[in-house]
Order: sequence, then structure tokens, then C-alpha cells
Amino acid sequence: MDIEIIPCLNDNYSYLIKDDKTNIVAIIDPSEFGPCDEKINKKYKKLDFILNTHHHFDHIGGNIELKKKYGSKILGFEDDKKRIPKIDVLLKDGQEFNIGNIIFKTIYIPGHTSGHIAFYSKKEKVVFTGDTLFSLGCGRVFEGTYQQMFESLNKIKNLPGDTEIYCGHEYTKNNFEFCIKFNPNNNYLKDKEKVINAKIKNGKPTIPSTIREEIQTNIFLRYDDLDVKGALNLKNASDLEIFRKLRDLKDNF
Ligand code: ZN
Ligand code: FE
Repeated sequence: MDIEIIPCLNDNYSYLIKDDKTNIVAIIDPSEFGPCDEKINKKYKKLDFILNTHHHFDHIGGNIELKKKYGSKILGFEDDKKRIPKIDVLLKDGQEFNIGNIIFKTIYIPGHTSGHIAFYSKKEKVVFTGDTLFSLGCGRVFEGTYQQMFESLNKIKNLPGDTEIYCGHEYTKNNFEFCIKFNPNNNYLKDKEKVINAKIKNGKPTIPSTIREEIQTNIFLRYDDLDVKGALNLKNASDLEIFRKLRDLKDNF
């Protein structure tokens, strides 16, 4: 599978993918028409499918114009049928679908929004996580509960360690500053800082990361780390309480 990262808006990423065997082309979360259309035009001149992780404008902004130009089919979560413009295929939790020969599984991960999903291909070892799991961070809890967001993150955390994570935003640098503040003795994090800085200096995305790297460095997956608990002064708190505290602190970071 070919994956092309398309920077959009301020800090969004849309992802253009192609199945090499069948030449079927899809885009995940087209934030806006312009940059997505430019890349499609340059590479493939067609777009078979549009996949949306959730209904926020910075993930669906290109839907209508792209569908109009390329006649693409739009896939999204069933409960978001009124919130995703021009949706064609209503996906259920656990539902599999094909992009050419690539099989994707829909994973329902509410919290950021009530209809948020991830797209996971076991064989290709990739997951598109939208605004739920970021590199070194997670999305704000807007429509769901902390408990839902916590469980959603754990669903992703349980995917195989070598799965590559493609998320909705380039927030990694700011996320790093938060992680190191409350997990100051994490050496994986210190190593990761060098990698992040080098990529940013060269104008490159810090994406993708992997499940293994995120478990080692992303504080929102490290609610059971004693260093984190100590930094928060919450040694006896439950995992969910730690997660809630971290999310609240990050909202005002
Ligand atoms: Zn969002
Ligand atoms: Fe977003």
C-alpha cells in the first residue's frame, strides 16, 4: 500500500492511500479540497473512496467537492449519517471493508466525538486514528465521557506493537512538552525528542509513529507509570483517575 501524507489547514494531515494491486485509491479525512485535489491530480487522477474518522470540519472539509469531482463513495460511522456530508456507506463497529485488496476494520472509539472510528489494517500494519490517539497525546474529550475515551485509547493500545499510527494532527512537539513535564524520568521520551526535533527541522511530519513507541512515550497510555503518578501526586489513584487528571491538565497546558 502506498500512503501519502498531505498537510492541510494549520496542522492537519489527510492521507491518500492506494492499493498497489488494484489501483484503488482512497483518502482518509480530507480536511480541505485544495491540497488534496492537487495531490490526487498529480498522482492518480481518480479517487474511489473517502473515509472519515469523525464529523469535525477539519476532517470532512473536502468531502463534497472531492465527491463531486471524482464521484467517490464516502464511508463513515453509522451514527454520524446526519453529520458527515454526502455519506454513502454507514459503517458499524467491527465492520470490515475493502479498499481494493486491502482489508480495513472499523474500530469504534468514542470520546473525542460520540461517533469517532479508527481504520485498521492488520495485514498492512497501519491504523488511522483521527483525533483519538495522537503521537504523544490524545484528543480532547468533547462529546463522550473520560471513561469512553480511556477505553477507546486502550483498544488502540492493544493492537500489535509494530502497527504504524497515522493520526489527524501534527501536535507532537507540544505533546512532547506535556509528556516530559509529568514523566520526567522517561528515557524513551528523551530519545524521542531528538527524533522529533530532527524531523521538524527538516520540515518533515513526525508521523507515523508505532503502537510500541506510543506505549513507551505517550503519557496518556502510561497512567500506570509510577513516575507519572508521583509527578501528579496521585500515587494511589486508579488508572482512570490518572487519565482524567492528565486530560484536564493538558486542556489547560
Ligand atoms: Zn476532531
Ligand atoms: Fe481534528
